[in-house]
Amino acid sequence: PLPALDEDSVASSGDNNLTSSSNGKPPNILKDKSDNQQPDAMFGRFQTRPNLVLKSQSINDDYEISNNVLGLGINGKVVECFSRTTRQKLALKVLQDNPKSRREVELHWKASGHKHIVNIVDVYENAFSGKNCLLVVMECMEGGELFARIQARGDQPFTEREAASIMRDICSAVAHLHSMQIAHRDIKPENLLYSKAGPDGVLKLTDFGFAKELTANNTLKTPCYTPYYVAPEVLGPEKYDKSCDMWSIGVVMYILICGYPPFYSNHGLPISPGMKKRIRSGQYEFHSPEWDNVSRDAKEMIKGLLKTDPTLRLTIEQVMRTNWIASHTAVPQTPLYSLQILQEEQDVWPEMQEEMSNALATMRVDTDQHVQLKNLEKSTNPLLAKRRQNKVNTG
Ligand code: ADP
Repeated sequence: PLPALDEDSVASSGDNNLTSSSNGKPPNILKDKSDNQQPDAMFGRFQTRPNLVLKSQSINDDYEISNNVLGLGINGKVVECFSRTTRQKLALKVLQDNPKSRREVELHWKASGHKHIVNIVDVYENAFSGKNCLLVVMECMEGGELFARIQARGDQPFTEREAASIMRDICSAVAHLHSMQIAHRDIKPENLLYSKAGPDGVLKLTDFGFAKELTANNTLKTPCYTPYYVAPEVLGPEKYDKSCDMWSIGVVMYILICGYPPFYSNHGLPISPGMKKRIRSGQYEFHSPEWDNVSRDAKEMIKGLLKTDPTLRLTIEQVMRTNWIASHTAVPQTPLYSLQILQEEQDVWPEMQEEMSNALATMRVDTDQHVQLKNLEKSTNPLLAKRRQNKVNTG
């Protein structure tokens, strides 16, 4: 097994001042009655950080919120803010307070503190014009998105060794998450941001809006049906959720190396039946000339990550042990075509991003449906019970 904590487990910026509560509330964000979560003790063995304490005083007491919008997301906006005490520039994500947002914040909090995961500094629960909000203060990622940085590098060649070093950083974040039984389920280019521009910028994973904790509650321990007809992913949804991250890692790696995604629809429509089929059947290629000089190790790793059967996909532990990742500093410095292709194809980049988002959404729905199916099987449906009884009687 991987060491859960390596040198990357230490966050590079953002201070942690979340251990004391100003209002004497119990130190657990998931005390919301409407959110039927498991008791904290269930998570205990995976916890590496103190419990998150939501601050109930006004955020304005501690931070000055600027009008500068850093980004817009589906769930809310991210604006710039400044600490009143240190003047440090930070990013504030505003979420509506609901069980889904609480889960996002809770899982992001648990995961942060790792060098390659965006660090949460503070979380407030404040009401604005009658609406309860969760205000998440994070380190400000001033270096922008992963691929924008590659596109902006001008003529300086981008090599396979650099791609391996980027992939190692992403994989170390995922290894950290998976070791805590958290699946991110939304690893895609927009969620990979640099802390700052220039050589000191650190690549970090963010946006835990679809993250899922794989607890005993959503993994099937005791199947109560004949297992012969059941797809392997139904029996191991835990593995299935993690395998969604492994597919993402494969796609990001493929794009880093050649500059375009392994699967694409021909007409830019949101995940066409054709694209779905290609993903399901694993129809992608290593085209010439882009892939001609790429190492065998890299191609083998991509093959292992883009396997159509999620149970056959490499796990993060296996990836961390591959030569390409473990010895990334020894990967050949072959210049890659991706730089030129990414620069030339900037106009179709939004479309590629949308396709990856849609493919991930489809994958999450598929997983959740499997879980749904399983729950149906476990349920005390009277019709099902009768059928089972008949089965027993008739042998
Ligand atoms: P959503 O979950 O609603 O999609 P994100 O967390 O992905 O929201 O944030 C939306 C956008 O805001 C991102 O694409 C990014 O451009 C920007 N953003 C998010 N977090 C930060 C941050 N810590 N620093 C700077 N910009 C950020």
